[in-house]
Amino acid sequence: MNSIEPKRIAVVGGGITGVSTALFLQSDGHAVTIFEPDEFGTGTSSGNAGVISLGSCIPTAMPGIPARVPGMLLDPYGPLAIRWGYLPKLTPWLLGFLMNCTPSRARKNATAKAALLDRAHAAYDMLIHQADAEDLVSRRGMLKVYESEASFARAKFEIEVMQHTGRRFDIVSGDEIRQLEPGLAPIFARGLFFDDNSGILDPGKLVARFAETFVAQGGKVVERHAKNLSGDGPYSISTDSGEEEADIIVIAAGSWSSRLARQFGTRILLDAERGYHVMLPHPETPLNRPVALTAHSVFLSPMDDGMRLTTGVELGGNEAPPDYTRVRRMISRIAGSVNGFRSEEQSVWLGFRPSTPNGVPFIDELPGHPNVYIAAGGGHVGMTMAPISGRIISDLVAGRDPDIDLAPYRVNR
Ligand SMILES: Cc1cc2nc3c(=O)[nH]c(=O)nc-3n(C[C@H](O)[C@H](O)[C@H](O)COP(=O)(O)OP(=O)(O)OC[C@H]3O[C@@H](n4cnc5c(N)ncnc54)[C@H](O)[C@@H]3O)c2cc1C
Repeated sequence: MNSIEPKRIAVVGGGITGVSTALFLQSDGHAVTIFEPDEFGTGTSSGNAGVISLGSCIPTAMPGIPARVPGMLLDPYGPLAIRWGYLPKLTPWLLGFLMNCTPSRARKNATAKAALLDRAHAAYDMLIHQADAEDLVSRRGMLKVYESEASFARAKFEIEVMQHTGRRFDIVSGDEIRQLEPGLAPIFARGLFFDDNSGILDPGKLVARFAETFVAQGGKVVERHAKNLSGDGPYSISTDSGEEEADIIVIAAGSWSSRLARQFGTRILLDAERGYHVMLPHPETPLNRPVALTAHSVFLSPMDDGMRLTTGVELGGNEAPPDYTRVRRMISRIAGSVNGFRSEEQSVWLGFRPSTPNGVPFIDELPGHPNVYIAAGGGHVGMTMAPISGRIISDLVAGRDPDIDLAPYRVNR
């Protein structure tokens, strides 16, 4: 018997976080409406590397990163770019990032991410099962490869933190890499194999499948931008086609979430870490699983429609037009890493990782605004953390114990 009182809930944003949250809330019997102006499965949640990455507890803010930033920015193949005109707006976020680059903060942030990652697969599997989406997921792990013993040695702190937080992975030799991935060139000395990771074969299709399931189960979609959120319960959501009322609001608008939280007087440090992909044909021997080429800060993910090359980070907010120069440069750069590499560009894409300075998402009720929740900030592993974030929000709404210490995910942390 369901003892939860059904509520009218508005979920703002229909990326992976919004649709996942909506499905969990719907399972509790609530009347849920998703506000999303774009077609499902076309935004940031569609063009990512598709790794359900249970091993990825390491935040971007790590010891040693500040010293490497100038070199990264000067390197035309480097993993970091900044749109300098955006710097004034970015400064508070950057300062927060720098403060998190100490060993103790990095350990603490990794532990907070790990607690979500530990629960991520169970939450994903519930939704994959509900949406009958098993065909979109390949459960063959993820491989991270290093070209030399020296570069592997530089990952010592990272590996120590991953071990400490209970990540499951094996250290593999060059021979073992060749057995796992015959499609890779025989140039790698060491690797980390995460056998419990999965690869999503078409992330956009997965989001769309979750959304279709939501609608088939009676969920409502307003294909509009939520412009103004107001009231103190019930709440009003205004769009350019009118107003809707809801008892509860969940802000799940990715890197746009900070603007919406500000409408309730809540300031959060959340910005876009822009990232690009280029689709290439599968190489002669397609990869079996997503592979991280650490020397180039590039992921290669085998997808239904080809091999996806995703790159590093561009800091520049949500508005600046794309610049595909770097991602295109990486095509020739990594050609020698893959046997029978095929370099014909099929398409290019830009997405916006919703990122907090410490890499830990916000999953909370907004202070002073009962019944306004936020689930945003999954950053580099937002695809992985979305269902568990949604499950936690549904627990908070239902007054259930979420079975996790929520302190690290608080808005006022
Ligand atoms: C290159 C790249 C590679 C990545 N690889 C991985 C990976 O391998 N594994 C992983 O776990 N993560 C990965 N990520 C991160 C992941 O893609 C994101 O963290 C995740 O998709 C964020 O999902 P979201 O639903 O929170 O935000 P989004 O997908 O951005 O969705 C937010 C939605 O809100 C909507 N919206 C915004 N404002 C409003 C409004 N006012 N009203 C209504 N709707 C609104 C937007 O239209 C958008 O559809 C990668 C990201 C990039 C860029």
